[in-house]
Formats: sequence, C-alpha cells, structure tokens
Amino acid sequence: MELTNRQLFQKYTAHTSDAPLALEIVSAEHIYLKDSSGKSYIDLISGIAVSNVGHRNPEVVQAIKNQVDAYMHLMVYGEYIQSPQVLLAEALVKSTNSPKLNQVYFTNSGTEAVEGAMKLAKRYTRRSEFISCLNAYHGATQGALSLAGDENFKNSFRPLLPDIKHIRHGNMDDLVLITAKTAAIVIEIVAGEAGVKQATKSFFKALREKCTQTGCLLIIDEIQTGFGRTGTFWAYQAMEIQPDILLTAKGMGGGMPIGAFMANESIMRTLSYEPVLGHITTFGGHPVSCAASLATIKYIQEANLLDRVAVKSNLFKELLIHPLIQEVRGVGLMIAVEMKDFQTVKAVIDTCIENGLITDWFLFCDNALRIAPPLVITENEIKMACNILLQAMDKVYES
Ligand code: PMP
Repeated sequence: MELTNRQLFQKYTAHTSDAPLALEIVSAEHIYLKDSSGKSYIDLISGIAVSNVGHRNPEVVQAIKNQVDAYMHLMVYGEYIQSPQVLLAEALVKSTNSPKLNQVYFTNSGTEAVEGAMKLAKRYTRRSEFISCLNAYHGATQGALSLAGDENFKNSFRPLLPDIKHIRHGNMDDLVLITAKTAAIVIEIVAGEAGVKQATKSFFKALREKCTQTGCLLIIDEIQTGFGRTGTFWAYQAMEIQPDILLTAKGMGGGMPIGAFMANESIMRTLSYEPVLGHITTFGGHPVSCAASLATIKYIQEANLLDRVAVKSNLFKELLIHPLIQEVRGVGLMIAVEMKDFQTVKAVIDTCIENGLITDWFLFCDNALRIAPPLVITENEIKMACNILLQAMDKVYES
C-alpha cells in the first residue's frame, strides 16, 4: 500500500524534535497557507521571518520564472558575471546608504553568512576572539553555534570555537569586554530569539565607539530584522550607526534561499589572498534566488511597503489586550506577546492552529508568542488575526 505524505514524513525525513508541527501545506498565497484538507491558516510567523513580501508574491514569482527560462546554476560563486547577482549586489549596497558597506558576498543561508563574516573578521584583524550576546542565536553550523548565547544548545557539540565571550544585549557595562584582542562582536539590533529584546540608540552608539577604538569589527546580524521587518529597510538605520559587516538572509530571498555578508571592499579584499579563495561556496548567490531577492527589493520600494509597518505594529499592540498577556513588545512587525509560562503560550498556540492561525514561540523565550507576519498583511487582516488570538486566549483563560 502506498504511504501517505504524513507517513513518508514520519518515516523518511529526519526530525529535530519529537513534536514537529506536521501541517501538510499544499498551497500558499499572501498571508495564507492551505493544508491538504482545504483548511486555511493565517501565517503570523512568515516561516520564520522569511515571507516579508507575502507568500508567492507575484512579482517574485515572475522574476523566478524569467530567470529559470534564462539559466540556473552556472558556476561556483564569484567566477562568472551573472546579471541577477550583480544587479542585486548593487541594489543591496544602495539600500544601506553606507560608504562602509560597498561589497557583497552571497551565501545560501543565514548561518553561512555568519560563518563567512567570522572568517572575514579573523582574516582582516588577525585576531581570534569573538563576542556575542547571551540568549543570541546566529545559526546552527559550528562557528555560528559557537556564538550562541545558550549553553544547552551547545554542550553536546563541544569542542566548538574557543575565544568566545558573551555580553548582555543592551548592557553598557559589558562593553568593557571588547578589547584590542577582539576580532568582532556579532549582535542583532533587536534580539530575535531572546524574545524580541530591544536595546537603546545610546547603547549602539557606545558599542560603535568602542569597536572603533579597539579595532574590533562590528558585525550586525540582520538575518531576522532585515528587509524591512522592523519598519526601516535595515534595523541599524534607526540606530544611527554603521556596521563594519552586515549579515542578511531569510526575508532577503522573498521565499527563496539566499544570504549575504556585506562589508567594505578594503576588508572584503582580504578573502582573495593569503590564501587565494579565502571563502568558497558552490551555490551562494544562486541566480534564481538573486532574481527573487532583487524582485523583493523592488516590490518593497515600489509598494512603499515600509510606510505602514509602524501603523500595523501599533494596531497589533492596541488590539492585543487580555488578562493572559503580561507584555506586548516589539519593533515593526517583529513582536513578542509575553505570558506567564510556556504552558499558557503552548495552549494558546495550539488553539490558534485549530482555529486557523499559525504562531509559535522563541528559542530562548518560551513564554512569549511570536508575531512576525508577512509585511503585506492588511489592517483588516490584523484585526482578523487578533480576534483569533484573543478568542484562543479567552478559551485558555477560562479553562
Ligand atoms: N541569525 C539570526 C538572527 C537568525 O534568526 C537565524 C535563523 N533563525 C540565523 C542567524 C540563521 O539563519 P539560517 O537558519 O538561515 O541559517
């Protein structure tokens, strides 16, 4: 007898928990996912922080089709001139408004952008120490995992990279840990997996100053915040600082896999000697992903998508008032709804999924619900989503 897709999933695909969501999605459009029984779900997490311009955004789909008709993979990254790649690099550089960030190295994912950036920082500074934040997540490969600010995630995989120190996100006192030995600090503007924790502009200005004084490179991880999630194209732009290296992935591809690290040509150039081919990737900057990413940037700009992110964020904050909620915090459409404990959050999530809305929690903050919908969500859809959330909270509260 032929196995169902669910049985194939159980039997043949590797699992990283004993409780995968296991929804069988057959189509997706805008903010909606449809499962194999025809049930529709509002996607409030964008899987995760990826589908900023909506699922199957028509402009992105068209760009992908056009590119597939021209060519797909041709050669390892950096050898051939491929128009979607060079046009995307130009658009990315322009999006930063920063003379510091004038070259792009393309990767396939976020964690690879982190790895490339760490190697670049070591190569450029000739130092080996890195600093990251407690409760930070920067990826699952071994360099990025070494940066993770949570022992539980790392312990079974040691030895990892030595010379890693941690600071508290947003804590001025901890900046003393940055010294002339530090190659780089890797930090998010809004700490995503810590549960959407913000730091002040004065913290980031002091951090920038300290990095400049010590020659430590400031690596800003915008893998979750990038491409408009917080309301500015890059979250660092609201902090009035400039990174030395900028990391992006997730939302960058409009649903296709791609990542990048960006830096100044004077830094980036060190990957081309001692040794030559200092960082290599076969598929990094895949032309189809680059075409999708370029269409994503164009869509964000032409639809003025970022203009209403703050209004939409405030609408969530206004509507989400309930005795179960202890705090709603966030920047733009990167929001955490904090409750008493994981059991409460999990019960609300399960009820939401039953009622056709997808949300989840955070790696290092399991007592908060994640709200990170596609930025194209309309104000009416936000009201619909909040109704489902509040009804689920009522149900959990009553029981
Ligand atoms: N950095 C941050 C801030 C992230 O949120 C993530 C993914 N959650 C990563 C890096 C790793 O990205 P990827 O899963 O594409 O490797």
